[in-house]
Order: sequence, then structure tokens, then C-alpha cells
Amino acid sequence: DLDSTAATLPSVSKSNIECRWSDITSYAAKKKVQSWFQHANGNWELGRIMSTSGTESVISLPDGKVLKVNSESLIPANPDILDGVDDLMQLSYLNEPSVLFNLQYRYNQDMIYTKAGPVLVAINPFKEVSLYGNDYVEAYKNKSIESPHVYAIADTAIREMIRDEVNQSIIISGESGAGKTETAKIAMQYLAALGGGSGIEYEILKTNPILEAFGNAKTLRNDNSSRFGKLIEIHFSETGKISGAKIQTFLVEKSRVVQCAEGERSYHIFYQLCAGAPRALREKLNLKDVDEYKYLKQSNCYSIAGVDDAEQFRIVKEALDVVHVSKEDQENVFAMLAAVLWLGNVSFNVIDNENHVEAVADESLINVAKLIGCDTSELNLALSTRKMRVGNDNIVQKLTLSQAIDTRDALAKSIYACLFEWLVEQINKSLAVGKRRTGRSISILDIYGFESFDRNSFEQFCINYANERLQQHFNRHLFKLEQEEYIQDGIDWAKVDFDDNQDCLNLFEKKPLGLLSLLDEESTFPNGSDFTFANKLKQHLNSNPCFRGEREKAFTVSHFAGEVTYDTTGFLEKNRDLLHLDSIQLLSSCSCHLPQTFASKMFNQSEKPVVGPLHKAGGADSQKLSVATKFKGQLFQLMQRLESTTPHFIRCIKPNNSQSPGSYEQGLVLQQLRCCGVLEVVRISRSGFPTRMSHQKFARRYGFLLLENVASQDPLSVSVAILHQFNILPEMYQVGYTKLFFRTGQIGVLEDTRNHT
Ligand code: ATP
Ligand code: MG
Repeated sequence: DLDSTAATLPSVSKSNIECRWSDITSYAAKKKVQSWFQHANGNWELGRIMSTSGTESVISLPDGKVLKVNSESLIPANPDILDGVDDLMQLSYLNEPSVLFNLQYRYNQDMIYTKAGPVLVAINPFKEVSLYGNDYVEAYKNKSIESPHVYAIADTAIREMIRDEVNQSIIISGESGAGKTETAKIAMQYLAALGGGSGIEYEILKTNPILEAFGNAKTLRNDNSSRFGKLIEIHFSETGKISGAKIQTFLVEKSRVVQCAEGERSYHIFYQLCAGAPRALREKLNLKDVDEYKYLKQSNCYSIAGVDDAEQFRIVKEALDVVHVSKEDQENVFAMLAAVLWLGNVSFNVIDNENHVEAVADESLINVAKLIGCDTSELNLALSTRKMRVGNDNIVQKLTLSQAIDTRDALAKSIYACLFEWLVEQINKSLAVGKRRTGRSISILDIYGFESFDRNSFEQFCINYANERLQQHFNRHLFKLEQEEYIQDGIDWAKVDFDDNQDCLNLFEKKPLGLLSLLDEESTFPNGSDFTFANKLKQHLNSNPCFRGEREKAFTVSHFAGEVTYDTTGFLEKNRDLLHLDSIQLLSSCSCHLPQTFASKMFNQSEKPVVGPLHKAGGADSQKLSVATKFKGQLFQLMQRLESTTPHFIRCIKPNNSQSPGSYEQGLVLQQLRCCGVLEVVRISRSGFPTRMSHQKFARRYGFLLLENVASQDPLSVSVAILHQFNILPEMYQVGYTKLFFRTGQIGVLEDTRNHT
């Protein structure tokens, strides 16, 4: 209910607050004003109130239909003059249909950006819109345009970084396909344009095609879906010029390398390589067409409408040149990609009646061995046997067909993940901030939004956990900090309730009885299985209101954005993420066409003995970090980093599920607006005092504008004198113990005067 709290605020003038519709329906009927009527399908339509008697109203809809409805079910609509305002805070009636309509009204005119108080809402146009490029950059730089825009956010970030000497962050969130990655690139373009000059900005922009080639794939939701999270920290010199950058990535979806769903693709780079490799390279790597590789063939999808993979390959190679990956290393990278593809074609023959296997010594096995630089016999052994230590003896155990296939796939995934990490490292070396760093930076976070599918697995579990953390950061920043600051400074402020997601975070993080701890515990048990894991959850967590055990191996979590049911199949294995010692030894011993650092990356894994149920016999006691624990660590580090910055939030919204322009599905948009707290933000910001400044700072900044001397020179007296001189209305500000608080827009008058004096 958006209306009730604003009305309890004491110092807001009557014209400024929401009224209950029932209070004004009789007035409305006289004037035949517009009102929102909700159809059975959930869509809202604008109708006109014709008459009202008792609790019933008669309304007429645009198609001429006249309906008798319950007055309480009608929701007041804004006057036409407010159609398409560029900040939702300006709406006089701030209810869900009005917000939806306002966004749609703008969207229909290609105005895809709208402010929701401090948050920028971006609705994916799914087509080219003419809002970008040099002219627009100039206009936002000179402030000759004021419409909401990613450029405006980036501009504010740069200015605040310089003015406040505080690092900034631009946090972009939204569902898959909502436009996060595009938005991040648009922000980077603006920063590069303003902070450019050294040439490093060009390199920074070129990291995008590389990371997208290796980390993005076509999914059913998005033809260019990022399968990893990314934080790019762009560093600036004292003069505001870009001096370097650093990229951190989170949780690359490895499983996609060996397995993907019907109609989806593996990582773009595989298709680009097969389509775009020049003849010499094709021959060297013995490359075939995409449909000859099992890993690529299984999903029955090879191309993306409107995308030329061969052309993309040229673009990626060029970008690799720009970030100083040598031609030789590039070729090694391509060789590793080919090795992964050929690995998928390696098959096995059963050799005894216990289902033990041996790799078939065909073209695939020969090619893999050649590409990674080992003997075929070594490779065969690594894929079909496992060395174990039992007591003091080394024994060799033969693998069954399914074990061998798992080993093969684990090796392919591991090579790819190392390759990805290695690439990010190379890029970071090339972008490294020089010695003369000032420590000022703007970070852009593009991380997968909340996911809820028909079937949700370990990946969704991690992604949604990350989103709970980010949501808390958002809540904390916008709501808690806001309230605390008012209260601390003695400001009159009716408390606002907001959805805190601490309970859900506890469900994940609590030790020893939280989802993550229980998962890790079960992962170390030799006999642990997805089934025993699911049972343990039900046993320990059923009393938690955010948790519900489901039939068989499933469980449901109540996330801030809605309920998600997870199927635990594969949870333990994905969390353990074992790469068997034999594979590691193979890779670290082979002459590999691997770049040196890459080889040592693989080798490093073997220094920490891998422990899992299958290696228990080896008696090793130190343990490799589980995937979930490693991810949690990364996430905490990320949160810590973000906490020390001034955040700017961009919420991307997907207007339809078909990736098509011009279609705006109200229900879909509304659900996203609710999930990301946009409606709450508008209400709070509008009813509160979003601008604040210490007495000292205020007096220092505007004191010189005073026309008369003030008797006392203390900052508070000076501040009050300034407020009086400029006739700032009493309901537009509050004086706190240490700060002055202003309603939206108030400080603008003072700033304008100051800048023109
Ligand atoms: P994921 O979580 O799957 O990575 P995402 O939120 O990063 O999704 P994007 O890849 O940025 O989504 O956007 C999906 C597609 O939407 C883009 O490939 C592009 O076609 C279109 N799109 C997004 N933003 C814009 C924009 N500002 N202008 C034009 N098209 C856009
Ligand atoms: Mg993306």
C-alpha cells in the first residue's frame, strides 16, 4: 500500500500527499476524472468515473463499455499533465498502475530511461534507439540535456568521485535479458569519453568483446546471456583521466561447456573459432564444422539470428591484440578451445564384464593428446583409471563408463575455466594501473539477476544467494541508512517498514545449520548424496519460515523476489567440483601448448590435495574449498568493496519474454518493479528528505551568497540565514543536529545561484 505512510508524515503539505480514493470519488464523479480499472487478466485500463453512489461507481472505458464497480477497487490516475514524467517521484498519485503507465508511456516513445528517485530504471528497447553517441555524451557533459540516462548516472559518479573524494559504484541489476550488460557498456562508453586521453580507455572498451565471446552464450532468455558476474573497477588519476582498470569475475558457468539445453548454445567463442579460423589455423588445430563436435551438437542450435560468428571471431582477435595478448598466446588459447571440443568427442569401449572402460584410440583422442601435448597412452590412462593410495600402497583403479565420462567432462570444464581465468589475468595485466595511482575509482557491477525457472539447480542457488546479498546492500543503503540518519539527527520522520531479507540471508549463511554449511558438510561425507543432503535440509530447516521441504530431493526458498524450488540433483558434485589428480598431473606434466602461467594455474590445483569421497582412501587431510564457500568468500569481498563506495543503482527491466521491440507486458514489468524495490524507493524518497548537507558544509558552500552579515558566525546560524534569504519553504527542509535535510530539488536553486555568482 503506497498511500498510507506518506499521509502519516507530519510536515508534508496536504497538496503533496496521497489521498484515499474513496474520499474523492464523489468529487471525481462530478469532474468525470480518470481512474484505473483492473481487468480480470490483471491488466490496468484508464476509465472515467461517471457517477458514484455508496460504495459503487460507474465507469466508462475507452472502448465505450460502461461498468458498475466497487469504488474501493478503483485506483486514482494522474492528470494528463503528468503523463510521462521523467521521475516517478513527480507523480501525484503514486500507485502501481500509475507507475506502470508512466513507464509504458515513455517506453512507447523510446524514452527507455526513467528515474525512480535515486534509482535509474532502464527498460530494454530490444531495438536500436538513438540515445547514444558523441552528441549525447557532449549534451550530458554540458548538462544541456536533463532526461534520465545512463550517461547522467555515469556523469554524477565522476563528479561525486572528484568532489567528495570517495570511490563510486554503479550497480546494475535485473533479470536475464533485461539489458544489464548493454547498460554497463553504455556507462563505460561515457566514462571513457570523459576520462579518455591516455589510450587505456580504448583497451578497456575492447575487453567487452573478449569477455562476451568467452563468457556469454545464447540461452532461451537472451541471445547474448552473460554466464558470469563481472565487476570492473576503472581507476582515475588526480586530473580525472582514466589510468587503468581491473576486472573481477564471479562464478563462470562451467557446466555449459559440456552440456546445454535444447535451443541454447555453449560459449560464443567455440562457434566463432569454428566459423572464423583462417585456413592455416584450421589445419593446425584440425578444426571441423560445429556440427561435428558432440559438445556443440547436443543442443541442436548452432547459430544466432543476425550474428555472424566468423566476423565476431575477427573482432575478438583484434581485441586480443589491443589488450596485448601475443599472437602466440592467442594461438595457444585457440588450441585449448579445440582440445575441449575434441575431448567431447572422445568415446570409451567397455573392456571387461565389470563395465570398466578404455578410451577409443580414434581421431579425437589423438587430437586432444596432440593439442595439450601428451602421449595418447597417458591421456587414455588419465581418462580411464584413477590412482589411489591405500595405506602405503599405490593402486590403480579402473573406471566404469559413467566415471570415465565424468572424468572427461570434468577435464574439459576445468580447462575452459582455467582458460577464462587466465584471460582475465592477461587483460588485467594489460590494464594494470600505473604506479602513480590515486586510488580513486568507479566500479561497474554487472551481475546475473534473480533466476527462477521450471527447474532450478546449484547455479540458480548461488545466483539467487548473491542477489539476496545485493538486495540487502540496496535496502541498507536506501532505506536503513536513510532512516538511521534521520533518527540520529533528530529529524521528524515516521518510520517506514521495508522488506528486510535478513531472514533469508540467515537461512543461507547460518552456521552450522544453514543451507551453505549443510551443503559443505554433506559434500565432505563419503556417502553423502543429493538425497541425503535434501533430507538433512528438511530435518534441520523445516521450522525456518523461509524454507520448505518438497517431495523427493527438492526444497523451496522464499527469496525477496519470490519463491524458488531447487532440485538438489547434482548439488554435491557441482559443489565439490573435483578434478581428479590424474587429470591434473597429466596437464601439469604435458608439454602443453599452454601458456606458461596457464599451465601453472592448472598445476596449482594439485598442490592443494583434492579431497572428496573418491579420494578419502588417500587419507589427505587438507581440503579444497567447495564452490559454494569460494563463491561466498568472493561475494563477501565484493560487498565489502561496495560498502566503501557511493552506490548508484540502475534497475534494468525486461518488457517482454520474446526479446521483441514494442511489446510491454504489464504483469511482467510489475513483477520486476516489485522484486527490485523500485516502488518502495519512490515512496520513501518522495516522502523523505533525500538531500542532506552538514551545517558546516552548507555554510561554507553558500555563505558567500549572504547579502547581510549574520550576528553569529556559527555554521548553524549562517545556514538558517541562508535558508531565510532564499525563502526556502519550511516544509521543504528540516534542520538536524548536525545536518540540513532537503526535499528533492530544493538544493538546485541554491546551486544555480552559486554557479552563476
Ligand atoms: P543476462 O543476465 O542474460 O546476461 P543482460 O541483462 O545482461 O542479460 P543484455 O545482454 O544486456 O541483458 O541485453 C539483452 C539484449 O537486449 C541485448 O543483446 C540487446 O539486443 C538488447 N538491449 C539491451 N539494452 C539495450 C539498449 N539500451 N539498446 C538496444 N538494445 C538493448
Ligand atoms: Mg549480461
